[in-house]
Amino acid sequence: MTTIAFIGLGIMGSPMAVHLQKAGFDVIGINRTPEKTAALVEAGGRAAGSIAEAVPDADIVALMVPDSPDVVQVLREDGVLDHARPGTLVIDFSSIRPDIAAELAAEAEEKGLRMLDAPVSGGEPGAINATLSIMVGGAAADFEAAADVFAAVGKTIVHVGPSGAGQTVKAANQLIVAVNMEALAEAIVFLEAYGVDLPAAVEVLGGGLAGSAVLNQKAGKMLDRNFDPGFRIDLHHKDLGIVTAAAREAGVAVPAGALAAQLMGSARANGDGGLDHSGLYRGVARLSGIHHER
Ligand code: NAP
Repeated sequence: MTTIAFIGLGIMGSPMAVHLQKAGFDVIGINRTPEKTAALVEAGGRAAGSIAEAVPDADIVALMVPDSPDVVQVLREDGVLDHARPGTLVIDFSSIRPDIAAELAAEAEEKGLRMLDAPVSGGEPGAINATLSIMVGGAAADFEAAADVFAAVGKTIVHVGPSGAGQTVKAANQLIVAVNMEALAEAIVFLEAYGVDLPAAVEVLGGGLAGSAVLNQKAGKMLDRNFDPGFRIDLHHKDLGIVTAAAREAGVAVPAGALAAQLMGSARANGDGGLDHSGLYRGVARLSGIHHER
């Protein structure tokens, strides 16, 4: 049986670890806040108190933590790079900077480990329903070796290039989602100003060219003012920082992405960072002097 040490059992990591356990892997969960291992243990998995305890027994180490410094910490500070057996396959599902992903993969290789960047898209429903889109960077042989892991949590699974390429594609994903979200929020503020029947409007918009996964998953949350996360504004702010910095580095302009990044930053500055990213609606409404209770 293949043993997977899964580090970071948050909104995404917890359901992913449960799916892996149910698919027949032996999953050891490690989470900074130990209570979050409960769902995995209930599904038949195990919980460990530290990376040092869990990782030496693992064939595969999976990570799902928020940001680049978190992945660096988990790998370098009495972490995976110190405790994993040579040959271990490290799969980082977190969304982080492409340059850091490539740097960490090279460092892992020096230690005799293999590493894939495998950020995901599809949101919390995608993790719960095991229908994530997974964009993978790294060696083709390692991608093939991880096929059963990816199949247990995802539906659209594509090898997009060498280490870091998965993160570059994820950055593009976050640019597209943010601009869509911003347009949807503007459209709803606009429709509300005219007193239009909003569920009817959203239904018909969803059937035409304006339809999108963002509209399907997020319009209802905007109409209900239900911004329980989901995907937190803090995390989308992080991703838009990655997109705008990487675009600048490459010398390409992403003006709509930069605008969305500013609005996401403003939402955070107004105290909305812990809300679902559909809460961007609140900031777009604020631009027109419309203030909603939190
Ligand atoms: P989350 O709910 O905040 O979970 C993050 C997990 O990482 C928590 O279990 C947290 O532990 C742990 N963690 C945080 N910092 C850590 C550190 N320095 N060392 C060790 N563990 C640490 O976040 P999430 O929504 O699952 O997102 C995780 C990643 O997936 C992010 O990169 C995000 O951008 C990406 N993503 C999220 C979604 C989504 O819809 N949520 C969709 C696609 C991609 P504690 O429990 O102790 O805080």
